[in-house]
Amino acid sequence: MRSILKRTLVPCFLLALIVVLPGEARVLRRGMQGNEVYALQELLMELGYDLVVDGVFGSETEKLIKDIQRAVGLTPDGLVGEKTIEKLNHLRASIVSYTVQQGDNLTKLANRYDTTVTNISSYNGLQNPDRLLPGQVLYIPTDSIAILSRSLTTRLRMQWPVKGRISSGYGYRIHPVLKARHFHGGIDIAAPEGTQVKAAASGTVVGVGNRGNYGLAVVLEHTGGVTTWYGHTSKVLVRLGDSVKQGQTIALVGRTGLATGPHLDFRIKIGDQTVDPLEWLP
Ligand SMILES: [Zn+2]
Repeated sequence: MRSILKRTLVPCFLLALIVVLPGEARVLRRGMQGNEVYALQELLMELGYDLVVDGVFGSETEKLIKDIQRAVGLTPDGLVGEKTIEKLNHLRASIVSYTVQQGDNLTKLANRYDTTVTNISSYNGLQNPDRLLPGQVLYIPTDSIAILSRSLTTRLRMQWPVKGRISSGYGYRIHPVLKARHFHGGIDIAAPEGTQVKAAASGTVVGVGNRGNYGLAVVLEHTGGVTTWYGHTSKVLVRLGDSVKQGQTIALVGRTGLATGPHLDFRIKIGDQTVDPLEWLP
């Protein structure tokens, strides 16, 4: 069972990565660029990290690598050699994201993925493991290692922060300004400049300020390690540490940072990792 699963789970680009990184592989490091770096970034993206896949090993890629190295017990040197690649492949092969179907239960899933109910339950921080909701996303550690801490599932009830057309969805796209293939970690909701941005859920303000391309932004922290991100705003109406209620106006729509027009870039993260907001919004 396990071997079949693993085989189907290792995507082609991983094989490509292994091919281009043979025995005495050269070590990837900051400053390098090219296909190997591109493959590495795709792999990181597959692991759920939000980064620009541009084939350039910059500070962002280096930071992610260091974080992962730290988490798996390697020296966090930011150098991607044989050991790091091995760990990354292992991680990728060991985590399955699964959308709950009608009639599923944990025992059934545990059997299917050759793991245990406790494993799935603790990995996802399930508070009520007897009640799975169809559409709910579970991360199933198919191996005993459950290194990346992802607690999902008890989804917060969110509301739309702004009403409007989704001008860019979650996932891969060609960046409208940079014209490069890019992983978009949020959804863009088009709205006129000055439109009120509402808190998607109650929480605490943990970030306010300018975030480069993401512009003037607000970050709210909610329960379960979930944060919501509101980018490109023209004005922020809350302060660091404030408690906000769901629906409270926290900012105004703008076009600060790298934006072609006024819109809200809304993101949901669990820990460091983005999830598709459309799976959470009503
Ligand atoms: Zn965006």
